[in-house]
Amino acid sequence: MKGNIQLKKILKAVLLFFSFTALITFFSVSAAWADEPLVIVIDPGHGGENKGAQYEGYTEKEMTMAVARAMKEELLKYDGVEVYLTHETDEDMAIKDRAAFAAERNADFLFCLHFNSSADHNYFGAEVWVPAGGEYYAQGYSFAQIAMRELGDLGLYSRGIKTRLNDRNDNYYGILRYSTYEGIPSVLIEHCHLDNEKDEKFYRQGPEQLDEFGRLDATAVAKYFRLKSESLGADYSNFPVPETEIPSDIVRPDRTEPELCQIEVTEINEETGEITVCMEAEDKDSYILYYHYSIDGGNYYFMPETWPRPEVWNQSLRELEFTIN
Ligand SMILES: [Zn+2]
Repeated sequence: MKGNIQLKKILKAVLLFFSFTALITFFSVSAAWADEPLVIVIDPGHGGENKGAQYEGYTEKEMTMAVARAMKEELLKYDGVEVYLTHETDEDMAIKDRAAFAAERNADFLFCLHFNSSADHNYFGAEVWVPAGGEYYAQGYSFAQIAMRELGDLGLYSRGIKTRLNDRNDNYYGILRYSTYEGIPSVLIEHCHLDNEKDEKFYRQGPEQLDEFGRLDATAVAKYFRLKSESLGADYSNFPVPETEIPSDIVRPDRTEPELCQIEVTEINEETGEITVCMEAEDKDSYILYYHYSIDGGNYYFMPETWPRPEVWNQSLRELEFTIN
């Protein structure tokens, strides 16, 4: 009898031990199945002595930080998301360290935020840069289509979703290059130009306007990852994320000139002094973004205007007629 009780006790202990291990296994499996938080890393472009673009009192590093904070705040309203900024204070940070920061946190995606400018302050619009190859290209391109639609709905001109290579055939932008080395999908968003009057209304109204960019970026992320937010009343669990095929080779940017670019005077009104011209342009590799023209033989060119965007990106042959006074 005594021996039996001993055995029962031993048996009970063993069973407990087994049920305990079974419990641990169950939890670890269920954690791996789902409900692991989505980890988003936001990289506010520039910082510290690295100020980025500056124009008429606007400093890029301040603008990217404002957008990053608003983006984080908005993203945290969604279920199951962890959000980190590569830096919370105004400091310069090596590009490599920004990607390493994301890797340490097991980031599912890195979003790098910037504002654009041009030497002659004449360009305008938004663009998204994506890694040039493989699954990172496909993921970046799918996300970028959602983000670009948001930016377009806001009223910004799309300069496109693009790749850029350095002379080693690697990603030109360090943050995309290092994120790819770390195995993290990434994109670089140039929200608008901070030095052009056409984009002015998107940032000039102060911090609330930059918050709008942050909310917009967060919404694009929420749609891409099909997130839900009770407080926002948003449920993107069935959002139709555009699919992008994984390219077999590096996706190279278009470096060639448009095949066709001509201008012809079609009418001269001597009474009013109006001249009507017809322009034709074609580029098979990509679409044409801007056009500008000169009426003094090329000494002075007027500010660039947007070239009509075709329905299909590679069918950009268009005629444009306009009148010069
Ligand atoms: Zn920048």
